[in-house]
Amino acid sequence: MSEYGLVIDGKKVPTEKWLEVKNPATGEVVGECPVATKAQLDEAVTAAARAFRSWSRVPDEERVQAVQHIAGVIEANAGELATLLTREQGKPLKGMGSEFELGGCIAWTSATAALQLPVKVLDDSPRTRVELHRKPVGVVGSITPWNWPLMIAIWHVIPAIRSGNTVVIKPSPYTPLSTLRLVELISEVLPAGVINAVAGKDELGQAMTEHPDIQKIVFTGSCATGRKVMGSAAATLKRLTLELGGNDAGIVLPDVDPAAVAESIVGGAFINNGQTCAALKRLYVHDSIYDEMCDALAAVATRIPMGDGMDEGNLQGPIQNKMQYDKICSMVEEALEMGGKALCGGAPSGGTGYFYPLTIIRDVSEGCRLVDEEQFGPALPVIRYFDIDDAIERANRCENGLGGSIWSRDLAKAAELAGRLECGTAWVNIHGDIRPDVPFGGVKQSGFGVEFAQEGLEEYTSVQIVNIARGEGL
Ligand code: NAD
Repeated sequence: MSEYGLVIDGKKVPTEKWLEVKNPATGEVVGECPVATKAQLDEAVTAAARAFRSWSRVPDEERVQAVQHIAGVIEANAGELATLLTREQGKPLKGMGSEFELGGCIAWTSATAALQLPVKVLDDSPRTRVELHRKPVGVVGSITPWNWPLMIAIWHVIPAIRSGNTVVIKPSPYTPLSTLRLVELISEVLPAGVINAVAGKDELGQAMTEHPDIQKIVFTGSCATGRKVMGSAAATLKRLTLELGGNDAGIVLPDVDPAAVAESIVGGAFINNGQTCAALKRLYVHDSIYDEMCDALAAVATRIPMGDGMDEGNLQGPIQNKMQYDKICSMVEEALEMGGKALCGGAPSGGTGYFYPLTIIRDVSEGCRLVDEEQFGPALPVIRYFDIDDAIERANRCENGLGGSIWSRDLAKAAELAGRLECGTAWVNIHGDIRPDVPFGGVKQSGFGVEFAQEGLEEYTSVQIVNIARGEGL
């Protein structure tokens, strides 16, 4: 029997089937993921629906305290969770790896506890009082990816719970164990049924999107799956937040000192080995500093130690899974065949594990997959441009619109150019700075809805207007 279980109605529930979860650095089995049946999904949704009746009505202060309590529980168990995360996801314990991810979980949970949804008074005249209330929507289904499994789980479930909803979460089959353990810990401090976890293959996610008793789906994953989620959620008109893929462009202006920005650009491109939605995925550099910029990036990237994440000296781990590894191999191969030159990396590391070195490819342009599609891995194409209007146009010629960045010493000009990027977040002189107090979300085919801050919390509510006529003689 697996040491991991589903979490349904406050209890850890075993299953008859399991999936092996393997460490991408070593190939070793980390644990067995329980596979929920359709009946177990129904039980989880029923438990959540039952819990919603009381959880949606408890005094708000109680929910604030519960969420604060959760932050403490995560903090107390951060060491165990970080180790499990490294073993199943591959990311290093140190650097921007698992310990950093757990720190994010705690920060986002605490920040969300402090948010309020006050009643807005829209009219308070002698004859009428009109109030706008924010009401929880019901049972929220959360479907998460494998790149930042715990942080994204927290991004989904904490605002849902904070605003009075109940949750059924389904983690990615590649990285389910740390989420199951996290939910087990959280469920111990909440009334039974407020948070439930099911696990299994992709079809379980589809069953959630079709489930008549789930009122909202919050989904983070690829655009292709996002389209399927939207399609199957249509039959029951579910509320949706879709946080999908990105192909973020960065544009470096000619006034930049390449040595001064190389570290930040490499950090923005290769955070979590490039397996990050809002990583910098295409870099446009002005012709006048192109060679210097390419060399500065390669100098930084080659210094970053990569290996088994359990070894505390490593700051990058393997690619998380075989499918993603094969995709990076073939995208880089194609870019090289089309005339690109690898300044570092450019071929798999070989040996055990899905290791692929940090790769910088110069002399590439649109027309190859590494530039046109989301690579979601450790390979950055550097593209030459001559004219800034042309660079902005090429950056925007993309179906995605998650993030983008402008790099320049002239902050006013950079901010003006940032405003011309078609994306949910446009950064200047930084890329991927995501914060709990700032809304984050995509435009175009990177999805819709935002997460974080007041605007993110409101996504888990619907508006109810209470309109009071103060007529006499009632
Ligand atoms: P994925 O779309 O393959 O899977 C995501 C989740 O959806 C998994 O839990 C999977 O089991 C489930 N799923 C698969 N098919 C489903 C279906 N038909 N119905 C419902 N659920 C289904 O994505 P992934 O490979 O795990 O994650 C990588 C992608 O996620 C990248 O494109 C990345 O950019 C994106 N992402 C976006 C954000 C953001 O905030 N915008 C954050 C992280 C990752």
